[in-house]
Amino acid sequence: MDSHFYDRLSAELKDMESAGLLKPERIISSAQGGVVDIGGRKVLNLCANNYLGLASDPRVIDGALSATREWGAGLASVRFICGTQDIHKHLEASIAEYLGYHDAILFAAAFDANGGVFEPLLSEQDAIVSDSLNHASIIDGVRLSKAKRYRFATNDMNDLERVLQQARAEGVRSILIVTDGVFSMDGTIAQLDRIVELAERYGALTMVDDCHATGFVGPDGRGTPALKGVAGRIDIISGTFGKALGGAMGGFIVAAQPIVDLLRQRARPYLFSNALTPAVCGASLAAIRIACSPDGDERRARIQNNAAAFRSRMRAVGFDLIPGEHAIIPVMLGEAQLAQQMAAELLEAGVLATGFYFPVVPNGKARIRTQMSAALTTAQVHQAADIFEHVGRKLRII
Ligand SMILES: *Cc1c(COP(=O)(O)O)cnc(C)c1O
Repeated sequence: MDSHFYDRLSAELKDMESAGLLKPERIISSAQGGVVDIGGRKVLNLCANNYLGLASDPRVIDGALSATREWGAGLASVRFICGTQDIHKHLEASIAEYLGYHDAILFAAAFDANGGVFEPLLSEQDAIVSDSLNHASIIDGVRLSKAKRYRFATNDMNDLERVLQQARAEGVRSILIVTDGVFSMDGTIAQLDRIVELAERYGALTMVDDCHATGFVGPDGRGTPALKGVAGRIDIISGTFGKALGGAMGGFIVAAQPIVDLLRQRARPYLFSNALTPAVCGASLAAIRIACSPDGDERRARIQNNAAAFRSRMRAVGFDLIPGEHAIIPVMLGEAQLAQQMAAELLEAGVLATGFYFPVVPNGKARIRTQMSAALTTAQVHQAADIFEHVGRKLRII
């Protein structure tokens, strides 16, 4: 028993609490959706990654249930021992075809996909050039590889070019540029057209983490490469089934065959972690089918209309938004305590929206991140904007 250790943890938690940095978990007693039950009340949900509104869609639930009946609860094995069923191969083929790639490899989460992708593909002689705002899982994955590391200022193409020149001058073998397709805290969309152009000029490879895009951004929901006119010209895409595509869980990489083949042999989170449960595969397959259908088109249109309506309502009453076109709409507040207080008042008034503050975003850049969803009706979006206006005035933010 090391009592100093436990005292140190308690002190750390206390410090976080007094700085207003603790993240409370609100307990939901219903399925995920545009409206959820919290503490016996129904509230509008503006903070799920449930963009297409499929998390409790009956067809997705049926996909999970029928896959469970046919294939069982789980595999009790990693993929290469005795954990690969037809349904895993169907899901890999389905997501690869949707995004226009040769093959796909599944992971327990996109966090694992990003954690496992770099180390097998790149060694000491190679370089990874990473956007400074990339997701934590990319940062961890890069740390686990032996490649040289370079960072460029977020979304700054001049800085990216400077770094590419530096890497080339230092004589590295292969260069992989990696970026989020959509930066999740800001809703900013990466300039993939210009990144591809620079990559081609400097002989670099490209990777996009499209977790906040697959299924609903770009034509047919094929993601930020499709939106930016460079579909098929990105070497590696990582994504998740835990957001727009059903919201269950599970990650994937789509890429050319040799990349996927090598990852199957060498990616540690794939080799040493359980195969996806059939329920997740069945739900994700159903979600991809919906995303590719006219219903998917309608849902994408609803997300866009909701986002445009909410942005214009919020701007009109004086909220400070990060400009953009994505369904992520951050309402900037500054200090962590204010973001906490605002989130608590919003919940009281009937809107679930989470405050984000340090260390998730930089100090002094606390915000409420709102996210639009096809699960919300236009009337509900206006109702949410009314509540924001009311709470914003009460707290003298507007
Ligand atoms: C959500 C997210 C992840 C992690 O996805 P999981 O499948 O939940 O592990 C990775 N990268 C980005 C950019 C994300 O937004």
